[in-house]
Amino acid sequence: MVKIKTGLGLDSHRFHEDQSVDKPLLLGGVNFDSALSLEGNSDADVVLHAIADAISSITGNTIIGGKADELCQQGITDSREYLKLALADLEEHTISHIAIALECQQPKIDPMVEPMRNSIAELLGITFSDVGITATSGEALTDVGRGLGIHCTVIVTVVSK
Ligand SMILES: [Zn+2]
Repeated sequence: MVKIKTGLGLDSHRFHEDQSVDKPLLLGGVNFDSALSLEGNSDADVVLHAIADAISSITGNTIIGGKADELCQQGITDSREYLKLALADLEEHTISHIAIALECQQPKIDPMVEPMRNSIAELLGITFSDVGITATSGEALTDVGRGLGIHCTVIVTVVSK
């Protein structure tokens, strides 16, 4: 019998106040070529961290805040490496769909949805049509909605092989 599971992951990062900080803004492995950058010991790719957490909620193995922190201390700051660890834990599960919701005032997400879907599909080994991305401004209701950072929510659906 095919068994379906859903994983939920959240992550938030604050923007560097000093826009002269020389750090790329990476979301879903895509460089946004922006003056904005996110605080964090790693590359601070909030989307890949939320995806890794969503996978962790299926596998039960903590990557972000666990193995990823160990890699970070070894100088590995590329979040794609953390995602690989999470994916390796999926073992007998196959990802059938991923839904990603971003909240931020900046940058504009809509023009970058297609490259992000391509990047995430490649990283996860799934097809473009199985990656959904939506974005909202947050209406200034929270610190994220007032433009201080980016919040990402991810739901991943997997089926047993
Ligand atoms: Zn993070």
